[in-house]
Amino acid sequence: MTKPPLLQALRARPLLGDGAMGTQLMIAGLAQGSCGEEWNLAHPDRVLAIQRRYADAGSDCILTNTFGGSRIMLNRHGNADRVAAVNQAGVEIARQAFDGRAGYVIGDIGPFGGLMEPYGDFTEEQVRAAFNEQAKALVDAGADAIIIETQTSLEELGLGIEAAKAAGAPCVIGSMAYDVTLDGSTFRTMMGIDPERAAAFMQEHGADIVALNCGTGMDMARARQAVERYRKVTPLPLMVQPNAGQPKLVDMKVVYDETPEQMVKGVVPLLEAGVSIVGACCGSTPDHIRAFRLAMDEHLCHENQTLRH
Ligand SMILES: [Zn+2]
Repeated sequence: MTKPPLLQALRARPLLGDGAMGTQLMIAGLAQGSCGEEWNLAHPDRVLAIQRRYADAGSDCILTNTFGGSRIMLNRHGNADRVAAVNQAGVEIARQAFDGRAGYVIGDIGPFGGLMEPYGDFTEEQVRAAFNEQAKALVDAGADAIIIETQTSLEELGLGIEAAKAAGAPCVIGSMAYDVTLDGSTFRTMMGIDPERAAAFMQEHGADIVALNCGTGMDMARARQAVERYRKVTPLPLMVQPNAGQPKLVDMKVVYDETPEQMVKGVVPLLEAGVSIVGACCGSTPDHIRAFRLAMDEHLCHENQTLRH
């Protein structure tokens, strides 16, 4: 199976990402608060079943099930000695989900889950070492790209980008999680970073793709606003993976209630704004991704026809 490198493929056409992993793991029986990444080793069949549904729904890119796969995160579940194994298995399972088709496996690095000194207990060196270790495991296992995602601070994002580059990742994606402000006028990360600053930082630090995912109140329309703000600062390819609406607590369970029909309305506006990879985050399902695929293909088909006229 030969395919162009991800960045080259994006120059030809936009690609479809995948949907949520965490909420799908819960549906598959993962208990709240337990280690979802451990399933790469304990229940690879269940992780594969989820990712295969995304691949079958039309995803071109699948994120590995390694969001909490850094030593610091795995240590909370007594799995610190399994960093390499968890991340390697994560890449292999995502690759398998494509069933031999040409697809892109994006090695996922989530936040380390704490604060660095002077605000928290972790030293920069600890975080750097944890990201270096995870990025190396993902790249060694053959990931086509690394995404540093759900980031809120530039310090942590910077360590992640450096780690991915040091590991030799063929493509490095930085992805921020924004929250809409209380008055609804704008959005920024929990640590106060706005899209312009994040995009400029990523470009300066050598990221290849500037992205956003997750967040609070960041629906597809807000995501488009973020994209426009990114675009004013950087010519780099952009990637967007919003949540399926706002989380609500129903019967003590977190529920995301934006349907595929509602969410898919935002896909073409994102493509028109120049987004290169569109996917979705928490609460989205293979049905959301299938709807995205149809909308995207129809849009690209129209575009080609217009070009020929
Ligand atoms: Zn999310």
